[in-house]
Amino acid sequence: MRGEERLKGYPFLDKANAPFVDRHVTKAGEIFYPWDGKRIDGFGLIGAPLSKSSISHSGASFAPTVIRKCLHAFSTYSVEEDLDLAQLKLPDLGDITMHVTDIVGSQARIEETMTKLLENEPNWQPIVLGGDHSISFPSIKAFASAKGTVGVIQFDAHHDLRNLEDGGPCNGTPFRSLLETGSLVGEHLVQVGIRDFSNSYPYRKYAEKHGVKVYTMKDVNARGILTILDEAVAKLKRSVDVIYVSVDMDVLDQAHAPGCPAISPGGMDSTTLLQGIFHLGKDSLVQGMDIVEVDPTLDFREMTSRAAAHVILNYLKGKCIKSIG
Ligand code: CA
Repeated sequence: MRGEERLKGYPFLDKANAPFVDRHVTKAGEIFYPWDGKRIDGFGLIGAPLSKSSISHSGASFAPTVIRKCLHAFSTYSVEEDLDLAQLKLPDLGDITMHVTDIVGSQARIEETMTKLLENEPNWQPIVLGGDHSISFPSIKAFASAKGTVGVIQFDAHHDLRNLEDGGPCNGTPFRSLLETGSLVGEHLVQVGIRDFSNSYPYRKYAEKHGVKVYTMKDVNARGILTILDEAVAKLKRSVDVIYVSVDMDVLDQAHAPGCPAISPGGMDSTTLLQGIFHLGKDSLVQGMDIVEVDPTLDFREMTSRAAAHVILNYLKGKCIKSIG
């Protein structure tokens, strides 16, 4: 609802409870409404607040709530594209309820919930808010079983192809689990932003052996994010029905994402990530996304949650440009 309409008849009453309301500004958080169970036709948010599966300490379970809050810090207007997202009305499906002690049980709840929702709402294009990266295994597994052959573009500092024997299904294993269960073929996985001194040789070899396409940060810096993504999408389009984008916010340099549990230097800057997400959003084959590894308890001035909110907005901006074009 636009500012003028919201205030019509009640000049000093505002539902957002904000300290200041400019009648000519719509906040990005206002485009989402609590899902009423009615038919979903397009994008919708859902939270998967699981972080007990993290190798290191993580409060990423708090991220869905904080990222939603941060959407209220920004307007709906893209000055770069002269496009206002205020026209959108998108359902927020709420958070999937996690089990308190059973981590694998929580991952199963994510898969069951996503599967059921995608079965009942085949037009739903999920935007999943983690949680740590372990949530991508059940989310993509459900997405693949509902949508057909899936290709995944993973923004990440890490391969996330660790073995499952040492520590079980954690935030270091989601793509290993997808490959080993046959939910995803190695040739259909593209990793972007893989970083120095954050991975080990055996997992690089594992990626190569399974045909996973890996773009390191050196590749991103040398060739540019748009060139790389065009190449990745062109490759995937030859053999997949749909593309899911998994955004681990630790692909960003520690200067841009201090609230990630696994911070390090030499990463992507936020402008590059947002340009890439906008670019992918314009492609109609891209129909699902998750955003993971934001720990608001480690963050500084909600910098990382705000970057995550911009990932959502740039994705939607791409989708709106596409539908207009
Ligand atoms: Ca990861």
